[in-house]
Amino acid sequence: MKRVVFFGIFGNCFRRAAVVLLLAVSVAGCVSRHQSAPNKELLQASVRVGKVRYIPLAEVCRYYGFTEEGDGLSPIISLKTGVSSAKILPGSSWVLWYGQVRDLRAPVLVRGGQTLVPVSLLQIFGQAAAAPAAAADRDSRRVSLRSVVIDAGHGGHDPGALSSFGGAEKDIVFDIAVRVQKELSERGMTVVMVRSEDRFVPLEERYAIANRSKADLFVSIHANSSRSAAAQGFEAYYLSDEYDDFSKAVAERENAALAFEQGAAASLPDINATLWDMMFSEYRIESIEIARSIAAEMKRMLKIPTRYIKGAKFVVLKGVRMPAILLEVGYLSNRYEAAQLKNPFYRQMLAEAIVAGIMNYRQRFEMTGGFSR
Ligand SMILES: [Zn+2]
Repeated sequence: MKRVVFFGIFGNCFRRAAVVLLLAVSVAGCVSRHQSAPNKELLQASVRVGKVRYIPLAEVCRYYGFTEEGDGLSPIISLKTGVSSAKILPGSSWVLWYGQVRDLRAPVLVRGGQTLVPVSLLQIFGQAAAAPAAAADRDSRRVSLRSVVIDAGHGGHDPGALSSFGGAEKDIVFDIAVRVQKELSERGMTVVMVRSEDRFVPLEERYAIANRSKADLFVSIHANSSRSAAAQGFEAYYLSDEYDDFSKAVAERENAALAFEQGAAASLPDINATLWDMMFSEYRIESIEIARSIAAEMKRMLKIPTRYIKGAKFVVLKGVRMPAILLEVGYLSNRYEAAQLKNPFYRQMLAEAIVAGIMNYRQRFEMTGGFSR
């Protein structure tokens, strides 16, 4: 009987606004009491759908002390406590748990107004001993920004944009990347270079290098080109599904490196788009903040106007599991900027502005313990 009352109260768990409040009040103190494997009380609430046992998400939330959050636009449901973070998606069997993708082996369902999750989710949540450690590890990594991956765009047989005033994007951005590396290293940062010579690196390999490095930040450096000779200025991009025609055009141009890859078309790992969205939205706020921080230094140090800080679908950013930005440091199609980009002193200033932006961000980031929390 008691359980029936429970469902009466919590059964609409997925109607978020009301429930978040309810749960926030109801579950305080719930977390520390239940760090071991799920108990019988929770399993008693399970129901069978086909061959799979499911538990109402509301019960799971109550038991583990999760509150649900959604932005009302996306179907993704975020489950949060003070230290924990999980994301699930009705219809999908994937869950994002501490930034890692886990397979529930059966999809999350919505039945009769209730969100039902496979009991396999409890095994993931039940790994309580590992979870706080993972959270602590992740948090300590994220609140101390110590390592940066620098990705010089293009290379080898992919020249990138060609300047009508001489020079190729691949060489210009490589020179800037090396200068950024030097400046960051001198400030005690660990720097991983995606390429340290003029060679072609497939986009997929670029983000694999980044992920293996477990760095705190990924910065891809590019120079832009436009049919409009008047176009000039600094642009920064972060990964997003929301984009306009302009950012789409830039992304298409940068993604064109895929065409230089030999053999089969490069493909992202076979995970659906929404799942990627779940993953990269983890870092979107940090990515935007650092883009703004660098843009501020471009303006302060070099008087370079910021054209855009925008979201776009860049393949190289899409696989990166950390805050990630792509910088377009200027237009090779613009007479003034193309001439400037040929000048080593100007490239040094650009590198210093990028580094100042990163260091300023780091200072604020470490003071606030990260922007996303
Ligand atoms: Zn480029």
